[in-house]
Amino acid sequence: MTDRYAVIGNPVGHSKSPWIHAEFARATRQDMEYVRIEAPLDGFERTVEDFRNAGGRGANVTLPFKEAACRHSTELSAAARLAQAVNTLVLEPSGIRGDNTDGSGLLRDLSVNLDFPIRGRTILVLGAGGATRGILGPLAGAGAAGIVVANRTVAKARDLVHRIGFPTLEACGFEALAGRTFDLLINATSTGLTGEAIGIPPAIFRKGALAYELVYGRETEFLALARAAGAVTSDGIGMLVEQAADSFRLWRGLRPDTGGVIAALRRA
Ligand code: NAP
Repeated sequence: MTDRYAVIGNPVGHSKSPWIHAEFARATRQDMEYVRIEAPLDGFERTVEDFRNAGGRGANVTLPFKEAACRHSTELSAAARLAQAVNTLVLEPSGIRGDNTDGSGLLRDLSVNLDFPIRGRTILVLGAGGATRGILGPLAGAGAAGIVVANRTVAKARDLVHRIGFPTLEACGFEALAGRTFDLLINATSTGLTGEAIGIPPAIFRKGALAYELVYGRETEFLALARAAGAVTSDGIGMLVEQAADSFRLWRGLRPDTGGVIAALRRA
């Protein structure tokens, strides 16, 4: 029987995950299907249970349900526990395992695809929402020399840094970034999607630094400022595919090649 997987979100119509997982399944000859499920905003748990009862083996979880998925899991990986957010569910008759592959996906895109190992680097992460919660622990654990988390609402950055608890982490507001530069700058605010201005000092970008925008497939203010300063830029398409490959491995026990899928999405 064909194994069933899904991405659960609201909205979910834009998700590229069904296409990505269909490519992985084809390349690795796995008998599986992967669909989009839009859960009602007040009905995430019910949607997961209906899918599990109908034979669903696993699911990706996207906005706005990553925290709900964490609460609904009966067992959490270390990454999910640190993030307090889950993007991958392994559905078993005995329970639900929750994991978070956003951080491992980003690390792999940086270190393998972009040849930018994290150890010893200074990093700025803009934003303190769900995406930052997923990536902060893995970035800190990969040996960054220092990570500054800057957020519009400073208290959220402080709380997050305190909870993750690595000595290399620091929190601040955007105005405190004046006069500082970094090896790697990551935009994990939602401004890339909304088109709003972030309000960061343009001088934080320097020639040769890597500016990584989590949003993919669009020109954002963050990328434009970085490029104008001579920084190297990347969008988040590699992270999207690498986190999907990590989810696929959790479900199927093997990790698909990602290069061809990333290249195809860039061409699309
Ligand atoms: P979220 O939880 O809603 O957090 C949004 C963050 O953006 C908050 O820190 C918020 O600051 C900040 N923000 C919003 N508007 C702002 C503005 N006008 N100026 C400055 N800061 C602003 O969203 P999320 O889940 O973290 O997602 C963030 C982005 O990452 C999204 O664009 C998402 O698509 C992307 N993402 C990509 C991948 C991938 O695989 N490539 C994976 C996950 C997420 P306050 O706290 O002050 O409100």
